[in-house]
Amino acid sequence: MSVIEDCLPENSLIFLGTAGTRFNVINQTRASGGMVVSLNGVHVAIDPGPGALVAMCSRRPFVDPNRIQGILLTHRHIDHSGDVNVMAEAMTGGGRRPGGIIALPSDALDDEPVIYRYLRSKIGLIHTWKEGESLRLAGVEITPLKLKHHGVECYGFRFHDPENPASDWGIVSDTTLTPEISPFFSGCRTMVVNTTLLEKVDRIEHLSIPDVATIIHDIAPERLFMTHLGTRILEGSPERIAASLSKDGTAVTAAYDGMVINLRGVK
Ligand SMILES: [Zn+2]
Ligand SMILES: [Zn+2]
Repeated sequence: MSVIEDCLPENSLIFLGTAGTRFNVINQTRASGGMVVSLNGVHVAIDPGPGALVAMCSRRPFVDPNRIQGILLTHRHIDHSGDVNVMAEAMTGGGRRPGGIIALPSDALDDEPVIYRYLRSKIGLIHTWKEGESLRLAGVEITPLKLKHHGVECYGFRFHDPENPASDWGIVSDTTLTPEISPFFSGCRTMVVNTTLLEKVDRIEHLSIPDVATIIHDIAPERLFMTHLGTRILEGSPERIAASLSKDGTAVTAAYDGMVINLRGVK
């Protein structure tokens, strides 16, 4: 019997899928499925879109679905929540091991729930995000920021570990560029940013490459990873676009499916 030793390292993050927009998800131009982060050894799925479970089991490092103890949703859209029920099944051992945390926007639970009712009694805590209210998970404070994204409730997250106060990092999900984003993430050394558009399009509430340049100018993180990449970015060279955004003090990288980053890997 083979033993899989190649597991997700502590305080690292794996991009299960980096596709952005419904067309790239439907066609699987790139994989979808969001990411999994190990917070002090506790595995947490973030935005488990379609394919998250398959990617966890088939990629290396292996991410054991049975070890998931938390699920965080930024918003209810299917590219962010398609695998949330099966992930909840994994987290609760098919209902035999009740527990775990799911944190999600209230409109993902109240209006048209994305979590099946039969699963909910098995989940230890269902937390709905409220701006300014942090959730503590594995000793890490996760603070949500309300974003603006096509009429659904959507949040970005700042992660702060009081044991490692210099290692704050953040995720900016699908959104237009709001004035609140840069001040909220100020001081974060690592940023993960959903970067879907090559250029700004007024009626589409997703971040563009010029928006990311603004965020870099304002926050100056040590590292910024672009994910949720849209068609025109993927048709070009995401790596070359990322390199063109890099500047003194900020290394910009286009994430790829299966990429692992160390969240403490900064000076
Ligand atoms: Zn969305
Ligand atoms: Zn999306």
